[in-house]
Amino acid sequence: IIQFQGVEKWYGQFQVLTDINLDVKAGERIVICGPSGSGKSTLIRCINRLESVQKGRLLVDGIDLTAGGPNVDSVRREVGMVFQQFNLFPHLTILDNCTLAPMRSRGLSKAEAEERAMKYLTRVRIPEQAHKYPSQLSGGQQQRVAIARALCMSPRIMLFDEPTSALDPEMVKEVLDTMIGLAEDGMTMLCVTHEMGFARSVADRVIFMAEGRIVEQGAPRDFFTAPRDPRTQAFLGQIL
Ligand code: ATP
Ligand code: MG
Repeated sequence: IIQFQGVEKWYGQFQVLTDINLDVKAGERIVICGPSGSGKSTLIRCINRLESVQKGRLLVDGIDLTAGGPNVDSVRREVGMVFQQFNLFPHLTILDNCTLAPMRSRGLSKAEAEERAMKYLTRVRIPEQAHKYPSQLSGGQQQRVAIARALCMSPRIMLFDEPTSALDPEMVKEVLDTMIGLAEDGMTMLCVTHEMGFARSVADRVIFMAEGRIVEQGAPRDFFTAPRDPRTQAFLGQIL
C-alpha cells in the first residue's frame, strides 16, 4: 500500500533521506525508531505529503506522489496523522474538531459527521467529553481525540509521530491501548515511537533509522534479540 523506491530528500544542501526503499503492505504495522535527527519524522511526513521528495518514487495506495498531479489531495484524505503535540483546534469543541474535515473534504452532512464523530469518540472511550474544549482535557484524552479525529476521515493508513512522548507517564498507557485496538482491527500503521513494549507486542516489523537511512529492519523478535548493525545495538543499549 506504500512503496518507497530509492527515495532521497534534501533540505537545501543537507541530505535528510538517503536511498529509502520500503514496501508496506495493507494491514501491516510498522514501528520506526532511531536517534534524534535520523529522519524518522521526515520519512513519515512524506507519506501524506507534508514533505516532498526530490529523487526516487513514492507510491501510496497506487498513486505516484512523486509524479504530482491532481491525485495528491486524494491521498491525503486516505492517510491520517497523529503528532506528538496533539494539534487540536483550541477554539473548537472536541465534537467540532472531529466533524470539521469530514464535512469539508468528505462532503458529510453535519448529522452524519456528528454520528461518525461520536462513534470514534466512543471507541477511544471519551464520548462524554464531546462538548468540552481541548484545554479542558488531559493530555492523554487530547491525544485520544486526535486519534478519533483522524479516524473520522476513514483513512486507510494511520501515521503516528511519537504520539506518547509529550504525555505524563500515567497517560501513556491509555493512548497505547487505543493504538493497540486500532492495530487489532487491521489498520495499516506506521508509528515513530520509542515505546519498545508496544513495538514488541504490536509491530510486524521494526525499522531502525540512522543518518537518513534505513539501517536495519526485522520482526521485533529478531530485531530486539539479535540486532546486527552496531548503531542499532548502541541505540537499543541506551533505551532498553
Ligand atoms: P526526532 O527524534 O528528534 O524527532 P527525527 O528522526 O524525527 O528526529 P527529522 O525531524 O526527520 O528527525 O529531521 C531529520 C533532520 O532533518 C534533522 O537533522 C533536522 O535538523 C533536519 N530538518 C528537519 N526539518 C527540517 C527543515 N524544515 N529544514 C531544514 N532541516 C530540517
Ligand atoms: Mg521526529
